Amino acid sequence: MFAPLPDKPDHPALELEILEAWEREGTFAQLRERNRGGPKWSFVDGPVTANRFSLGVHTAWGRTLKDVFQRYHALRGFDQRYQNGFDCQGLWIEVGVERSLGLNSKREIEAFGLEEFARRCRDVVVRSSDALTRGSIRLGQWMDWGNDYFTFSDTNIEYIWKFLKLVHGRGWLYMGHRSTEWCPRCGTSLSQHELSQSGVYQERADPSLYVRFPLLDRPGESVVVWTTTPWTLPANVAAAVHPDAEYGRRENGEWVAVSLFPDDTFVERLPGRELVGLRYRGAFDDLEPGSRVEHRVIAWEDVTMDQGTGVVHIAPGCGGEDFELSKVEDLPVLTPVDESGRFYDDYGWLHGLSTTEAADQIIGRLAETGFLVESGLYTHSYPHCWRCDTPLIFRLSDDWFISVDELRPTLLEENARVHWVPEYMGKRMDDWLRNMGDWNISRRRYYGLPLPFYPCACGHLNVIGSKRELAERSVSGLEQLEELRRPWIDRVPIRCEACGEPVERIPEVGDVWLDAGIVPFSTLGWENEAWVEEGYATGAARGLTKADLPDHAYWETWFPADWVSEMREQIRLWFYSQFFMSVALVGRSPYRRVLAYEKMLDETGREMHASWGNTIPAEEAFAQMGADVMRWQYCAQPPDRNLLFGYGPAHEIKRRLLTFWNSARFLIDYGNIEGFAPSWSDLDPSGLDLRPLDRWLVERTKQLLADVTEAYEATLTVDAVRAFEGFVDDVSNWYIRRSRRRFYSFDEAAFRTLWFALVQSLRAISPIMPFLADHLWRNLVQDGPSSVHLAPWPEAERPDGSLLAEIAEVRRVVELGRQARSSSQLKLRQPLRRLVVAGASADAHGHAGEIADELRVKEVAFGDVEASELRVKPNLPLLGPKLGAALRDVRERLARGEFEELDGGRFAVDGHVLEPDEVLVERVGREGWAVASEAGLTVALDTALDDELLLEARLLDRIHEVNVLRKESGLAITDRIRLWLPDVDLIERYRDRIAQETLAVAVEHGDLRLEQA
Ligand SMILES: [Zn+2]
Ligand SMILES: [Zn+2]
Repeated sequence: MFAPLPDKPDHPALELEILEAWEREGTFAQLRERNRGGPKWSFVDGPVTANRFSLGVHTAWGRTLKDVFQRYHALRGFDQRYQNGFDCQGLWIEVGVERSLGLNSKREIEAFGLEEFARRCRDVVVRSSDALTRGSIRLGQWMDWGNDYFTFSDTNIEYIWKFLKLVHGRGWLYMGHRSTEWCPRCGTSLSQHELSQSGVYQERADPSLYVRFPLLDRPGESVVVWTTTPWTLPANVAAAVHPDAEYGRRENGEWVAVSLFPDDTFVERLPGRELVGLRYRGAFDDLEPGSRVEHRVIAWEDVTMDQGTGVVHIAPGCGGEDFELSKVEDLPVLTPVDESGRFYDDYGWLHGLSTTEAADQIIGRLAETGFLVESGLYTHSYPHCWRCDTPLIFRLSDDWFISVDELRPTLLEENARVHWVPEYMGKRMDDWLRNMGDWNISRRRYYGLPLPFYPCACGHLNVIGSKRELAERSVSGLEQLEELRRPWIDRVPIRCEACGEPVERIPEVGDVWLDAGIVPFSTLGWENEAWVEEGYATGAARGLTKADLPDHAYWETWFPADWVSEMREQIRLWFYSQFFMSVALVGRSPYRRVLAYEKMLDETGREMHASWGNTIPAEEAFAQMGADVMRWQYCAQPPDRNLLFGYGPAHEIKRRLLTFWNSARFLIDYGNIEGFAPSWSDLDPSGLDLRPLDRWLVERTKQLLADVTEAYEATLTVDAVRAFEGFVDDVSNWYIRRSRRRFYSFDEAAFRTLWFALVQSLRAISPIMPFLADHLWRNLVQDGPSSVHLAPWPEAERPDGSLLAEIAEVRRVVELGRQARSSSQLKLRQPLRRLVVAGASADAHGHAGEIADELRVKEVAFGDVEASELRVKPNLPLLGPKLGAALRDVRERLARGEFEELDGGRFAVDGHVLEPDEVLVERVGREGWAVASEAGLTVALDTALDDELLLEARLLDRIHEVNVLRKESGLAITDRIRLWLPDVDLIERYRDRIAQETLAVAVEHGDLRLEQA
């Protein structure tokens, strides 16, 4: 016996049951054991940042995709690693701790104490990794939980040290003095790839100021500049003009670019180069730094004429391009603000103000001193700190960089070897690799990888490559070194290898993308001589994982990854950092194949934000829609488009899954009645005496397996979902619909064929929908593998294409017949006399009976459809240019029907051949016919009704009514009845048919009623 199924699946409840069964039976362990020693499929998990205390639906998307392809490869017998990773350092973690402690600046963190701060950061990782693990298990993700890698492990840090030492050995490491994007709240610079994260650029309204600088050499005249960052004006040193642009002087002496002010009147015009060299008075020369500067007009080819005044305010301490220009033009560089974005002492009355606080006072002062021409507001897209959302400023700082130019050609070559899905993602990586600047790897923060740089006063830069080297060269402090981390590491000075003097480490920590980028080496044991049990559980990771540090042979086995997958923004982040590090270390890409996907938005297409109330916690989604439905939603998504996630789409998915559920329920209900007990060893029904429809379903099932196999191999879940949906429709709306009666008695071929189709489809979809698939499997396959996940992948056989094409065509004819019927507004239960089908292949002729039955017509004829009229109109935008003056004539002939239909959808009119896209074709039923047509296939329904057809329509209405009544009376589907009907004519004419279709043992005349027989 099969367990009877309820009307619809309770996804959350059955998922919890299946999770419990997996746990109890050790299903995943069994699967791993079975595949041990099999061919390898290497997947490297991109670490999730361990700073949230519940799984998000965004993260669940990526985790689902990872799980789907691991499950698929496991079914195929591949041995896999299943190592999950957590990202544990950097600003994400620090900022959360700062918030929880109410700390608002670096000074406050230092006052709080770095030891305790580090411990609090670790606590966040401990709690978060635990919560994320629980959420992932609930999602159905199978990973080697408990052997995860944590990027704050000392082992991981040592691997990065090793990388940095190698980079230094090649001469790529340098300290750069640059103007960079800077977060004043976090007190650190940001790298180019951090700026590329989503959410960094946000719309923002800033002051828009026009400021005049009086020219010392031309009294009464001035140059006018435009800026949206008032705080940079006290750092102004020059005004740039385009040497070839035309500038004009207004009556009041103001010089601006002529092209930007076309309506102004100018009393004098000069090319920019004539203004170059003029000296002017700065707006803040009363402050000490400005007073030291000789301001002048300079030439700059990059001055654009799209906004502003055509004269550009140059402050080299506050802008990247300005800083570059300062080197060319030998301009002084003023740095007005400190690390926290506040003005330095020597800026007098501005001292201590933040850049935003200073804005109003600066504008006020400009107005008082007569420098202000005009002020307003300007809305633009402006970069914000990716973590704390503070608007960024430009600031000069000394940062550590890895020069990328020498490696760039190899990076490009290696990327060309990677198989990117979708393909354009690879192009994006290529663009990034071509255009990226040097990698800024230093951050002035606390909870991060300690950069092992010890610059000595003698000029030598010491770079430490391992913990052992640190120990050997340390001067003191080793005994208190709990972890390779601030503050402990800062108390371990080393001896300079050049002069022997003690040297201290720089205070900076590393970019978090170093932490994640080293993973293909640090977790796989690259260049590690001997396997170390739990050797990855070092430093802060101790006690959190039991992960080993494998040996180099292991690395050789598992590197490079066969596949990695993350969101598109990771192209410039994790995909990039590991790629860069790998090409630097071993000269090749760390992955062979990548699946990258676009963003997740809410179901109306908006970004999800907690403050907008449109985020969905994964816990809530598990409870309300179920993990399978979430996974379905993720997997149905083409990766090149944004996913609109929500309960609306989930509802639609549940509706579609219900069709599948109902097919299984149909088999189970009738199977239980008829005592159907299939055996796993007789899965394939081909040996039975099958009917054509059965043979078709067997082939259709093979096609499903071939399609989903291809989809999984191409790492495109969307294709697997589509293949499954088409299959479900064919099973339910064709096979079961056409074979229903065969299940009312024990027709073994029908039962076995449907069972085969359902069982195979469960295997096909199990990676995407692991719970529902296993739930139904455990019911339908009672003597086979205990879980669908333990049944091996069914090898795809080539289906009989001609049989499939034949039925596909029949289904199209029926579909068109339904369209024609609905256009005629005839009800479905009204039988009709005749259907004519034109354009069908000879194979379809053998299915006339099925078509007649489906469409309730007495006769199906194949041949020309004369019942329709062809109307052809010109497609004017295309035909107009082609025909010119002849168009009018052609148009009239078409309207009069004076044309000849050629093959391939072309038409001849008066010597002109019109191509298919040049005409609009419509087939209209003539009086008394309903017509529908598509892609060469046309059907026409004779809509004329006679007495007999009307009588039969009444019969069908009556039978329907009786069957509704049966259901309402609570009768089981097999219960027999006695039936009374008021229609004498129907009873006389159709007694047997009524009895058969309502399971009546007797049909008598009387008021409509029934009773159980
Ligand atoms: Zn910040
Ligand atoms: Zn030295």
